[in-house]
Amino acid sequence: MYLELTDDLLDYRNRIREHIAAHRPPMNRLPGTRSPKPADLPVYRQWCASLFSAGFVGADWPEEWGGRADHTALQDFVLDVELAQAKTPRPIGAYNLISGALLASGTQEQKAKFLPRIRQFDDLWCQLFSEPDAGSDLASLRTKARREGDDWVVSGQKVWTTHAHIADFGFLLARTDPAVRKHAGITAFVVDMQTPGITVRPLREITGSSDFNEVFFDEVRIPRENMIGAAGEGWAIARSALAHERSQSQREDSIADAVRQLVQIAADSPRDGRPASEYSEVRQRIGSFFARAQVSDLLGFKGLLKSADGVSDVGDSPVSKVVFTEANLDIATYALELQGNRGVLDSPDEEVLDGGRWQEAFLYARGFTISAGSNEIMRNLIAERALRLPRDPAAG
Ligand SMILES: Cc1cc2nc3c(=O)[nH]c(=O)nc-3n(C[C@H](O)[C@H](O)[C@H](O)COP(=O)(O)OP(=O)(O)OC[C@H]3O[C@@H](n4cnc5c(N)ncnc54)[C@H](O)[C@@H]3O)c2cc1C
Repeated sequence: MYLELTDDLLDYRNRIREHIAAHRPPMNRLPGTRSPKPADLPVYRQWCASLFSAGFVGADWPEEWGGRADHTALQDFVLDVELAQAKTPRPIGAYNLISGALLASGTQEQKAKFLPRIRQFDDLWCQLFSEPDAGSDLASLRTKARREGDDWVVSGQKVWTTHAHIADFGFLLARTDPAVRKHAGITAFVVDMQTPGITVRPLREITGSSDFNEVFFDEVRIPRENMIGAAGEGWAIARSALAHERSQSQREDSIADAVRQLVQIAADSPRDGRPASEYSEVRQRIGSFFARAQVSDLLGFKGLLKSADGVSDVGDSPVSKVVFTEANLDIATYALELQGNRGVLDSPDEEVLDGGRWQEAFLYARGFTISAGSNEIMRNLIAERALRLPRDPAAG
């Protein structure tokens, strides 16, 4: 942590630490946005609900929906640092995307129906945006919704849907008007994942686990009252939700902590009979990672303060995302390199370092450079929006 904490924030930090000590669930946080195992779900839900009810999470919501008038962005920063250091799981998934969308664009009835349940963690959410031919070019999505009486009827396919296999509800984007410009024909919905016609098929990932899914919609009926905002407003609603997700992923894992752990790995990893940390080349690499980590943490901190003041610049979240995800990937890669032959072992081999945590971190780190908009797309955004370079001709 790089800022002087005031007495108020020190008190706040103590309260968080006491809360973690009293309520932490018997499960550790895995690197990345991972789904809890089904057997862990009850304790996981309880833990997340406790963070809301203690006023640590969701404190920035309007008071009417459980937020606190005395909430500050610095409190969120302190919370993020404490949860990361304690390695406790965080509330996963699309809860923060959908709650942002509902607070900004939902009806009073939708807020009353879903927001209290989100705070109690009664419902887990997933984000049903990407499709086989619509990832970076999300506005080309083809899942269709047509009006039939009081319902919308949805058919199509989504992919890479994190947590869909355990989700109760989904935040869905579907094309409701194929006749207009592609960005203007998209509408956002809440969909109950138990609705007949939805098939969730888990995908097996390089980590060996299944956090992603394919989700198929076959004439799925969504009641009209589950549309978020007006028909055709889905693109704007999704964009603001995604910008939030980009800055969020940075706050979930402080890479400065990961660099401190590299120091220990270097000290414990012999090279030609000497600890790797004694080699100048190793110290240069670790020093340079620490500089990148500090930049990343400070960018995240700056973004937090700006968003709390309702200020944002177009380049902010793409810049933060690129800096964080690439430093994160390089650090995880170097952690394995430092371990030498041990780096290729994996859990449950008893020789593997830290239960295979670094292997997991390495395998997952590439995903962070892709999720919530790939880094190539982020660079395009920086070039076009922040630096006013000509528009990418490949983008539709
Ligand atoms: C960990 C993780 C979690 C995810 N969770 C979800 C989720 O919960 N819900 C959901 O809806 N989606 C999710 N996604 C999907 C994610 O949003 C997409 O993978 C991402 O938008 C990229 O789309 P794509 O995979 O179709 O790749 P493509 O768009 O096909 O891109 C392929 C490659 O081409 C590059 N590329 C594409 N267009 C351009 C361009 N104009 N200029 C330069 N390069 C370009 C890309 O950067 C990429 O390297 C997740 C992805 C990951 C990795």
